[in-house]
Amino acid sequence: MSRYISGLKGRMLLTVGFAIGPLLCATAYALLRIADHFAFAVIYILLLALFALSAIWLGVKLFVTRPLGELATTAERLCTGAPVSTEHFQTDAVEINTVATALNKMASALARISRAHKLLSETKRAVVNTTDELALLPEMCRLVVTQVGYRGSYIVYAGDDDKRLLRPMAHEGVVGGLTALKQILTDVSWAIGRGPVATTIRTGKPYVAQHLMTDPNFVPWREDAKRNGVASAVVFPIFVEHRVIGALAIYAVEPDAFETTELGLLAEAVHDLSFGIALLRAHAEQGRANATIERMANYDRLTNLPNHTLFEQHLHRALSEARSFDRVLASFIVDIHKLRDINDAFGFHHGDGVLKEVGKRISGLNTPGAFVARMRGDEFALVCRVADENDAERLALQILDALDVPFTIDGTQIDVNSTLGISLYPNHGTDGTQLMRHADVALHEAKKSSKRYAFYRREQDANSAQRLALVGDLRRALSANELELYYQPKIDILAGEVCGVEALVRWNHPRLGFLPPDKFIGLAETSGLIRPLTTWVIRTALRQSSIWQANGVDLPVAVNLSPYNLRDTHLVETIQACLRDADVDAATLELEITEGAVMEDPEGALDILNQLRQMGITLFIDDFGTGYSSLGYLKRLPVNAVKIDKSFVIDMADNHDSEVIVRTTISLGHELGLRVVAEGVENRTALDHLAALGCDVAQGYFIAKPLRADDLYAWLLSGHW
Ligand code: C2E
Ligand code: CA
Ligand code: CA
Repeated sequence: MSRYISGLKGRMLLTVGFAIGPLLCATAYALLRIADHFAFAVIYILLLALFALSAIWLGVKLFVTRPLGELATTAERLCTGAPVSTEHFQTDAVEINTVATALNKMASALARISRAHKLLSETKRAVVNTTDELALLPEMCRLVVTQVGYRGSYIVYAGDDDKRLLRPMAHEGVVGGLTALKQILTDVSWAIGRGPVATTIRTGKPYVAQHLMTDPNFVPWREDAKRNGVASAVVFPIFVEHRVIGALAIYAVEPDAFETTELGLLAEAVHDLSFGIALLRAHAEQGRANATIERMANYDRLTNLPNHTLFEQHLHRALSEARSFDRVLASFIVDIHKLRDINDAFGFHHGDGVLKEVGKRISGLNTPGAFVARMRGDEFALVCRVADENDAERLALQILDALDVPFTIDGTQIDVNSTLGISLYPNHGTDGTQLMRHADVALHEAKKSSKRYAFYRREQDANSAQRLALVGDLRRALSANELELYYQPKIDILAGEVCGVEALVRWNHPRLGFLPPDKFIGLAETSGLIRPLTTWVIRTALRQSSIWQANGVDLPVAVNLSPYNLRDTHLVETIQACLRDADVDAATLELEITEGAVMEDPEGALDILNQLRQMGITLFIDDFGTGYSSLGYLKRLPVNAVKIDKSFVIDMADNHDSEVIVRTTISLGHELGLRVVAEGVENRTALDHLAALGCDVAQGYFIAKPLRADDLYAWLLSGHW
């Protein structure tokens, strides 16, 4: 009955009854008295009718129209997104309350959806603004709780191995914090098998549990859920590079809390989170690679001492200081005798051990302000401020004495002999190159006369005479047919086919014999002969290529350019002339340039490179990773490909740093739209590894050593590759 009365229909009847009841009674009374005072009775009835109508009007207004009006206002508030609640209604009409409750539900769903939208934009903001993965995760959990209003949220990562053990990474609103979370996640048997988080990680699909208390997969965590006051949950997988790395779990107070649209928005937010994690990881890796590249460019890996690049930079600074303050500077070159013999007798391991120990002993000497470097192979250098020649001599003896003490490497005692050459600023040289060359002359002088050390003496500088003679020889060699090009093939890894050759110059010196490029390219560069030499190389390579083409072999040939070539304003013309003379098109020629070459005069070099590229010549950045290398700078160069330096490729199997450099250069090179070539591929393992990393082209002794033109042709025909 009371239910009926509280219904809308009941209220209408009550209202009408309340009005009609007295009216009927009054009418009956009036009819009884009608005979006496007819007119009075009519007026009386009319008054009562008026009263009844007013009562009905008032009742309807009070019980129906007003709640309906409030309902309408509420619906309007809903449209504007304002919060809505049943408490607004001062009615106990069931129908109106039902509508109000429905509206309320709708309101809270809409509010959630709008908050989920907000979460989406906040996630994007967090992804853009956070620079650290470990800061992004708690931020995400915080946003889920504070922005959308869920009770709790946490993120776990799964181990990389088969066990995939769960590791809590961040949480918000979890009662008991990390300790409780660890407890929740350590139920491994369930976690691996059926728990929502484990299921998500295993299947890579979201897990929605709208009723935790009845979800059979959630049995072990019911108590936890009660303690946290939650009744429903959803878990999303977090993917990085197509692999599930973990999951984000969200818990709500009420059952059945997750509506379809909302789930879609949450999934999108988690997708953004995954993207953010991947991005931060890539950045971190790039940062590590850049730091390693920088370290490798400036430090010797064996001894961890600065290398010749850093030494030259330091010498440059030290000289300008010495110039300003009128100081004397001494540069020393220390040469370890017969390192090769040590390697042969005891193995490379012992040779390396000796080098490390030499580095330690020299840098361990107590000489304030001294800068020690390993220059190359068995040569170390030191530069230091001294008072005068006597002071320098004292230091020289200190170094030699330190190296005279026998070395014990892995229990083997080894005696090391060393010699030292010294040059002084300002007496023996005024710039770094001169000073180092003169220390080297002094070193050779000391060796020749079997002394432990020697200062530079101008009159003994046979080296400069020797140098001059060699420059003369090289000038003659260019026309006397003493230079020869060797060609080393490159293969397209994916296609498994030869895709080009690199031309490498050698010198058959009539007296000194076969000289590798390292022995004379530097000389050509400093004597101005590099221009005619490069022209000779391009001309010869293109002619050879045209002969091969006539014999059905159409392969581009790569020529190395020296930094000096990029300062030559006639380079482009010269190349055009060579292409014309050999009657081959520009695509036949590829050019390899080191990044350092571009850095020396970026404006001029860029201009030349742009012209060459426009001509249709393929450009490579050579020796990537050894010099000024920065992947950021690569973006600005009009090059087609990047060649990872052989030192990293040779090393990558044993050295993690090298492997990281190879891997990141490949992926970031690809991101910049460049082809990536690896040189120094010496075995099958390296080639397979490069193939797995997606490297495009390989070159190295495993494929073929540099070969004479005829041998290369025979090698190609043999179908060896
Ligand atoms: P590069 O441009 O890095 O050339 C590759 C060098 O790596 C070549 O040495 C090649 O013989 C060597 N190499 C190839 N595969 C392997 C391998 O699997 N393992 C190892 N350990 N080494 C490998 P090469 O011919 O002695 O040339 C040395 C450098 O001389 C070249 O380095 C290049 O910078 C320069 N060079 C050679 N020819 C010319 C030239 O015509 N002009 C100029 N400017 N420089 C040249
Ligand atoms: Ca090269
Ligand atoms: Ca190279």
